[in-house]
Amino acid sequence: MLTSRVNTLSESITIAVSSLAADLKAQGKDIISFSAGEPDFGTPDVIKKAAIKALEDEHTKYTAVDGTPQIKQAVINKLKKDNGLTYTPSQVIVNNGAKHSLFNLFSVLIEDGDEVIIPAPYWVTYPELVKYCGGKVVEIHTQDTDGFKITPDQLKSSITPKTKMIILTTPSNPTGAIYSKSELEAIAEVLKGTDILVASDEMYEKLTFEGEFTSVASISDDMFERTITINGLSKSVAMTGWRFGYMASPKEEIIKASKKLQSQSTSNICSITQQASIKGLDGSADADIEMMRVEFKKRRDEAVKLFNEIDGLSVLSPDGAFYLFVNIKEISNDSLEFSKQLLEQKGVAVVPGVGFGSEGYFRFSFASSIENIKEGISRIKDFVENK
Ligand code: PMP
Ligand code: GLU
Repeated sequence: MLTSRVNTLSESITIAVSSLAADLKAQGKDIISFSAGEPDFGTPDVIKKAAIKALEDEHTKYTAVDGTPQIKQAVINKLKKDNGLTYTPSQVIVNNGAKHSLFNLFSVLIEDGDEVIIPAPYWVTYPELVKYCGGKVVEIHTQDTDGFKITPDQLKSSITPKTKMIILTTPSNPTGAIYSKSELEAIAEVLKGTDILVASDEMYEKLTFEGEFTSVASISDDMFERTITINGLSKSVAMTGWRFGYMASPKEEIIKASKKLQSQSTSNICSITQQASIKGLDGSADADIEMMRVEFKKRRDEAVKLFNEIDGLSVLSPDGAFYLFVNIKEISNDSLEFSKQLLEQKGVAVVPGVGFGSEGYFRFSFASSIENIKEGISRIKDFVENK
């Protein structure tokens, strides 16, 4: 009965593990979950107040499909101020979260058989959506020993006449790796002279602990032309449930086609979210963003220290985002089984690395209190020592 398209789609493993952990907790089990890619902070007051005002001012109607002029201008101003990128309103669209931006993007660009290069470990959604849209996934594997970053040579040898796009995520989910400006310049050099597009997912931009974040499109005019910049507010201002994402590209036909698709599917995103999100973009929540960043950095340091004290486990200290990608290869090469047993025996939920395209690891989200982190890692230590 169902289409082969949907039958080949896997459920998001990050969401699946988080839901399972929540269900077990609701049944009264003693569960600590490090599975969710979701800040544990509340949305900043300034944004919540803007939402209340939006309701009072009756911002409750349909808006333009691609976003109100005000929210689009806020996105344009943000991309200019933070990233040095200049776009016009017809080069920007707001979507129901960055996941929806990616869905629109792949839907309007990927033809059957088009190849899309995805560095692994990758965020779980990319390959599934690419396949759903008829594309062929070409993975480039990276390891902790190379900082989880692709090299220009790896990229060169993955390119074929069918390559349509590469997806870059900096800072990365699940590894926290950040590409430096010079690393991005080297990637840009490989792409020069090709028609390959770059989908640059910059969702964790504001969560940078070491080094400097560089927006991929800012590398050169050539990169600006070929890059679609994708971002949102889920992580930077703890707005996961509000559903706000956006994309920008100088290629207006991409934005226009996404708007057409959106006009026949979801229409505009929530009108109240649009009004409130202006405050998430215009600097009003900067102090909150910094408070969260500093707190995440403390948790990262504590978690990395504790993990590296456990015999058989090792982890790189991530430069950004709020995940650790923990190497379990000395103990297990079946991350699914490892994670399952850890949940069953110790009540600790983590996401198996295999879901991110890298066996022999698990992802640990440190978007959780220091107390939870200490207790959770102590249970993991117990689990590993008794294996
Ligand atoms: N990109 C990355 C790298 C992510 O981790 C996520 C998950 N939050 C998203 C995009 C999508 O986020 P959202 O749909 O909540 O905007
Ligand atoms: N992106 C988050 C994560 O990686 C949220 C879950 C999802 O959308 O897959 O956990």
